[in-house]
Amino acid sequence: TAFSFFKAYPSASKLLVLSTFSGGGVLVYSDLNTVAAPTDRKKKVVVLGSGWSGYSFLSYLNNPNYEVQVVSPRNFFLFTPLLPSVTNGTVEARSIVEPIRGLMRKKGFEYTEAECVKIDASNKKIHCRSKDSSRLKGTSEFDMDYDILIIAVGAKPNTFNTPGVEEHAHFLKEAEDALKIRQSVIDSFERASLPDLTEEERKKILHFVVVGGGPTGVEFSAELYDFLVEDVSKIYPKVQEFTKITLLEAGDHILNMFDKRITAFAEEKFQRDGIDLKTKSMVVGVTADEITTKERGTGNVVSEPYGMVVWSTGIGSRPVIRDFMQQIGQGQRRVLATDEWLRVEGCDGVYALGDTATINQRKVMEDIGAIFSKADKEETGTLNKKEFKGVVKDICQRYPQVELYLKKNKMRNIANLLKSANGEDTEVSIEKFKQALAEVDTQMKNLPATAQVASQQGKYLAKCFNKMEKCEKNPEGPLRFRGEGRHRFQPFRYRHFGSFAPLGGEQTAAELPGDWVSIGHSSQWLWYSVYASKLVSWRTRMLVVSDWARRFIFGRDSSSI
Ligand code: FAD
Repeated sequence: TAFSFFKAYPSASKLLVLSTFSGGGVLVYSDLNTVAAPTDRKKKVVVLGSGWSGYSFLSYLNNPNYEVQVVSPRNFFLFTPLLPSVTNGTVEARSIVEPIRGLMRKKGFEYTEAECVKIDASNKKIHCRSKDSSRLKGTSEFDMDYDILIIAVGAKPNTFNTPGVEEHAHFLKEAEDALKIRQSVIDSFERASLPDLTEEERKKILHFVVVGGGPTGVEFSAELYDFLVEDVSKIYPKVQEFTKITLLEAGDHILNMFDKRITAFAEEKFQRDGIDLKTKSMVVGVTADEITTKERGTGNVVSEPYGMVVWSTGIGSRPVIRDFMQQIGQGQRRVLATDEWLRVEGCDGVYALGDTATINQRKVMEDIGAIFSKADKEETGTLNKKEFKGVVKDICQRYPQVELYLKKNKMRNIANLLKSANGEDTEVSIEKFKQALAEVDTQMKNLPATAQVASQQGKYLAKCFNKMEKCEKNPEGPLRFRGEGRHRFQPFRYRHFGSFAPLGGEQTAAELPGDWVSIGHSSQWLWYSVYASKLVSWRTRMLVVSDWARRFIFGRDSSSI
């Protein structure tokens, strides 16, 4: 049985709620369950980051009882899905950024342009450093207190410690990265056009290598290919024949998170286009002139000269988060773990959203015990159909990744999985059900690190914060966890609206809900409409649409300014 006890700290506006469950013995430190502080002081919410999750949280937060302070080294929101289009001038960088100051003024929030370099969770403080600017006499450092901390700092590119990558490769994560790539591509063509070069030298300069066959690497390759075909052929006709794009992927296929039909179409299209697609190729080193790969299976090691490398192989935790994880006993984990309410595990008053964190998957199996106890069927060892449905619903409700896994694998519910284990029995064996869930648990992946997840988490958390006082007045809350003493809000639930993979040549692959796959020109128009509508303001929408129109009419701008 669940029990809870409350410990009020007289001076501070904090209340610690500890609850344990018979099933998993889970210890939960609740902040959303905090009762009104005895003082009139507003609670200070510090938000780290102005990206997808942070911006979404700030846009939906409408609670005058909080004093909100945003800290981010970037004084703008960046619409990352259109970042690959910036690398060749299809879209201008300024068209996809939204200044944060406008939102701050509208909402009455404060903003400081700095990065958090240390989180001191035990003293509820963060240590910050302003952006390095020699023009403005270097950096300044300062501390900031918080009552509630929202970590939305995203992630950094992951190099897997491959030698030479940091020094020689380009990344595609920030607006500055895309602008550097654009500059570097144009410079490559200008250098290759110099009169005193050999054919070999021109080939080396114009060898573009993309590492990583995920959506970003594929989209960048497609954008680069379009630039070569549509513009370079006209602007640099003499060197066009020396250009080559190589796409390296360590796995068996590119776009392996997409439907198999999309993967097959993309691979065939790239081969037709003359993009040298090398799967099962792991990059083991990059020098100033050569990139070395090891073929999985045969173990063959090959080095090739290159002109430019773009590295896009996934993401890893930022140093400030790694340090924070050590402090709170999560040092052994790869990614910061939260519970289903986005509260950082092992820490009071701290939430984490977006690419920074993941909902702790381990707890899925731990918590299942509590769900069965609630159904009170442990003694009989069986569930009837109605109870079974209730339990499945409960599990999917608490664990969006279970639901996502089931949908992705075309299992409408766990029943399909169970049917094979349990035969046609009308009663469901709890033991077999647990085995089936354990199977799902091992195969299940974390929620994807996408803007869709990040923005939904921001919106979800803001809505919880908006309802805080109402829930404090009505402590039992309207929700399903009534009586458990655990939490008053529904856990975060992810809704997947589909994904796109632009493949160049005005063709896009779309994987939409209901296992609907569409590939080709019609999906490209869908892509244009969805992304134009998802841009966060009318200003950016107009700028992007006019950039697209400019490109259709005049081609891309190839000047290196
Ligand atoms: P971010 O959006 O990265 O924001 C992090 C914020 O934290 C930034 O403002 C940053 O300046 C700030 N910050 C960093 N360090 C600190 C610090 N120490 N202190 C304070 N602030 C800090 N997803 C999709 O769903 N669809 C797509 O089509 C898509 N395309 C993509 C294309 C590219 C090229 C890239 C790079 C990503 C793409 N994504 C896409 C993924 C998506 O951008 C990320 O999942 C999303 O940005 C994650 O949001 P976030 O809020 O966690 O982090």
